[in-house]
Amino acid sequence: ERERAVAEASEPAITRDGKHLHVLVNVGVVQDAVEARGADGSGLVRTEVLFGEWRAAPTVGEQVDAFRAIARALDGKPITIRTWDVGGDKPLPFLPQDREPNPFLGERGIRVFRRRPELLRDQLDAIRRTAAETPVHVMFPMVTTADEVAWALEELGPRDNLEVGIMVEVPAAALRVHTLARDLDFVSIGTNDLTQYTTAADRTNAAVAPLADGLDPAVLQLISHVVQNAGVRVAVCGDLASDPQAAVLLAALGVTELSAIGPQVPLVKAALRQTDLSQIDTAAALAARDAAQVRGLL
Ligand code: PEP
Ligand code: MG
Repeated sequence: ERERAVAEASEPAITRDGKHLHVLVNVGVVQDAVEARGADGSGLVRTEVLFGEWRAAPTVGEQVDAFRAIARALDGKPITIRTWDVGGDKPLPFLPQDREPNPFLGERGIRVFRRRPELLRDQLDAIRRTAAETPVHVMFPMVTTADEVAWALEELGPRDNLEVGIMVEVPAAALRVHTLARDLDFVSIGTNDLTQYTTAADRTNAAVAPLADGLDPAVLQLISHVVQNAGVRVAVCGDLASDPQAAVLLAALGVTELSAIGPQVPLVKAALRQTDLSQIDTAAALAARDAAQVRGLL
């Protein structure tokens, strides 16, 4: 089955009822882009992983080189660069942070840079320069408020050649997506963190892993709310998009872009091609008792 899916990987993911989904690849290191088969671009470049081993901050030029290499490996298809998502479980050696009692609820993602924006400014510079050469989308992680969106857009400056979005991974952002997305081109749902914050279950703690299930109907209800209210295109770049069955459900809920880990891209595409989205009972999934029941439905 995998062999056949890989052989057909570069075919578009068009469902039986004619919906065209974009299936993209998540990139942490350039090699992820090199090895991806059939990806329609990258829906998530994790820059804090790309430069996670660097002792000193990369220069603007070094960042442009890395972004360019990823875009080239994906044949110039659009890449979605996420600004530094430092904090929580992800330290960056060149961006020391204060110790916090609850790092996942502390200064993570965009929150880090409001006090010291310099590193973000360099990165945005690199992103704008890359966008002058190749299709680039930029998105900001861990956004919670409309103020943060306004601040980020101001830091970004001119948006020519750039599509701009935020990650929706905080429940408050999901609930008020209509307000947050007003000046944006897209939003991308980070189901890993959205699940963690919705279920109050630490994504790194195995003891509560069964609670942190992305197919929990509470998470699905938030995803559905985002799709219904965003007013812009909605992507999913969390791990849920790498599960072919879950990806089909996400598409049925109205998500139009799925960004998965490389090896899963052909399988997600194959699952979508075999599906008639109008036959998926999304109401039953949203009303299910728990994640196990959703899985049963799928
Ligand atoms: C997510 O939270 O789902 C996500 C894609 O971001 P990360 O896993 O890097 O936090
Ligand atoms: Mg996240």
